[in-house]
Parts: sequence; C-alpha cells; structure tokens
Amino acid sequence: MSQSQNSAKSSEIMLISDLLETIGFSDTGLQSPARKIIETAGYTNPRKINIATDKVRLVEAYVENNFRLVCSAACAAALDQKQMRPQLRVKAQKCEFCNGSKQNKLLAKMANDLSDNNLLEILVVGGSTQSANTLNRALKHCKINIKIVEGTKRTNLKTAKILCRSADVVVIWGATQLDHTVSQVFSTAADPDKKVPVARPGLNALADAVNIHLANTQN
Ligand SMILES: [Zn+2]
Repeated sequence: MSQSQNSAKSSEIMLISDLLETIGFSDTGLQSPARKIIETAGYTNPRKINIATDKVRLVEAYVENNFRLVCSAACAAALDQKQMRPQLRVKAQKCEFCNGSKQNKLLAKMANDLSDNNLLEILVVGGSTQSANTLNRALKHCKINIKIVEGTKRTNLKTAKILCRSADVVVIWGATQLDHTVSQVFSTAADPDKKVPVARPGLNALADAVNIHLANTQN
C-alpha cells in the first residue's frame, strides 16, 4: 500500500495490534492467542495488519462475551465458575476479577493457594465489619469458606476451641478492632500449625501473611 492510500484510509482502519492492546492483550505473548481467536471467528485473517474501525466494537464484544478475561490462574478461579466461558489472559487492569487491584489479586492468590492445599475453612479473628464484608464479597465464588469472629465479641475458651478445631487456618488479625482478651483466648485455643498472626491492618496485610504461612508450611 502506498503512503497516500495509507493516509487516506487512516481514519477508517486501525492496527489489529492496537485493537488487541485496547482490549487488554498488552504484549505479544497475550496477543497471539487472542489474534488466533479473532481470526477463527472471521473478523480478520493471518495476512492482515489493519482492521476496519467499524469492526472494533464487534470484536471487543465478541471477545468479552465469549471469554473470561483474567490476568492469572488465581483470578480465573476466583470468578463465578457458573459462567463456563474459556479463559484468556489479559493485563491486570482489564482482568474481570481484580481490575488491576493489588489487593484483589492478592486475595485471589490467597484463596487459590488455600484451596489447592485443601485448607477450606478459614477463621478470621478481628477486623472490622467492613473488611469482613469486602473479604466475603471478593471471595464469594471461591471454594474456601471464611468465618469471621468480631474482635470486640467476648468468646470463652471452650467456644474458641470449638471454632478453632473446625478451622484449617486461624488468622489472628492484630492492629484491627481486636480486644486483647479475644486475641488471647483464640491464640491459646488455636493449634500453632494453624495460627497465622497478622500484625498490620488492611486486607493486603492479611493476604500477605496467609501467603507467607502457606509458603512456609509447604517447605
Ligand atoms: Zn486479575
């Protein structure tokens, strides 16, 4: 194609690589499987470099409706599994689960690693109602089951022991709304192998501590 033809058409076409980049396929590794998919669907063919801009919306809709766009295996596992769309890797900012949020990505990894290790019952002692809600909402499709004990709710040793016995991991979340007596009673009740102390507030700190605990138990 000559230079003049190229510029005459420039308002109506765009590079296929730019289109793929917009959807979230940010590098060659992510673009080549995506490119094959849009070729198979008939939107382009292997010889083409450009695509008509009026096809752009259609391609975006096709990819988004037919595939789970995720940045990692953990984010794919954290999504609602009832939607059986096959997964395609995109950059984190376009991920349907984490949307580029470091916190959500860490939580997805935590949930995935816990279930891979068959640690499904997680007891969290402390934290605010708000962080408990965020945790449960983010991980509602994961296999793990999170039970939260409010840090201001007095619990006797017997009840704490029962709760800890049925848990696979006991997170004691210090630096949050956690009374010393509550922390003490659960610290005594929990088996040392199950206990994960978290020294900082925030869900990032919780996920980090659990991920470190898992890495240590695997060694
Ligand atoms: Zn993600």
